[in-house]
Amino acid sequence: MRWTEHQLAMLREMGIRLWAPPTDDVPDPMAQAPVPVAAAVEPVVRDMPAARTTHASPVGTLDWPALRETVAACTACKLCESRSQTVFGVGSTRAHWMIVGEAPGEQEDRQGEPFVGKSGQLLDNMLRAVGLTRGEDATPEHQVYIANTLKCRPPGNRNPLPDELAKCEAFLIRQVELLQPKIILAMGAFAVQSLLRSTEPVGKLRGRVHRYQGVPLVVTYHPAYLLRNLVDKAKAWDDLCLAVEVTSGAG
Ligand code: URA
Repeated sequence: MRWTEHQLAMLREMGIRLWAPPTDDVPDPMAQAPVPVAAAVEPVVRDMPAARTTHASPVGTLDWPALRETVAACTACKLCESRSQTVFGVGSTRAHWMIVGEAPGEQEDRQGEPFVGKSGQLLDNMLRAVGLTRGEDATPEHQVYIANTLKCRPPGNRNPLPDELAKCEAFLIRQVELLQPKIILAMGAFAVQSLLRSTEPVGKLRGRVHRYQGVPLVVTYHPAYLLRNLVDKAKAWDDLCLAVEVTSGAG
């Protein structure tokens, strides 16, 4: 099998070294994935009540600017007391791809943009490897819009609480409604919980195409999890390739 430059960059990013054979044939990188130092630990998913659309809530009527303003002024949960600012989302509102993460960390809280820390670097590198960008200077097929389940940083980067997720959920759902993406990549347990309403571990949900309001949705590991569990980077690459395949087939 031959690899493009993008794919090779991605594999390097994931820490996967390709064995250089004496012939032209390059081995399957999945067979070459490094052995993990620590055992992989699945993120915990909590139960929470259902509310899948914003139609019954005032948030469901908001356009992009009004939604952004409403998020910025939100005091629905205690996270508003400790945040520096809300982190609404980044990317073109015409993007075909939507990526959903968990919650802002320290740097995101400071800069007001999702995924600007170490996880963000990994995410950007993975996206670049398949020709995607959060930048606005690409065509919509190559653009991603990135948002989190929570718009405010949980103190000390602790996990989101069910009450916080429930209160913030309408904002994410409205973002999906407004964006109408062609594909959603749900990264980690909390994104899955908000969008798919599933308490299954990420490892059980990945590898197939789900649907969220008619939009194909692929589940994958959160980049922060991947930084701690190197062996699963190869699976995340598979997930990204699956999402690319879905968009290629979608026309
Ligand atoms: N992790 C997330 O889930 N989102 C961010 O914005 C940063 C780190």
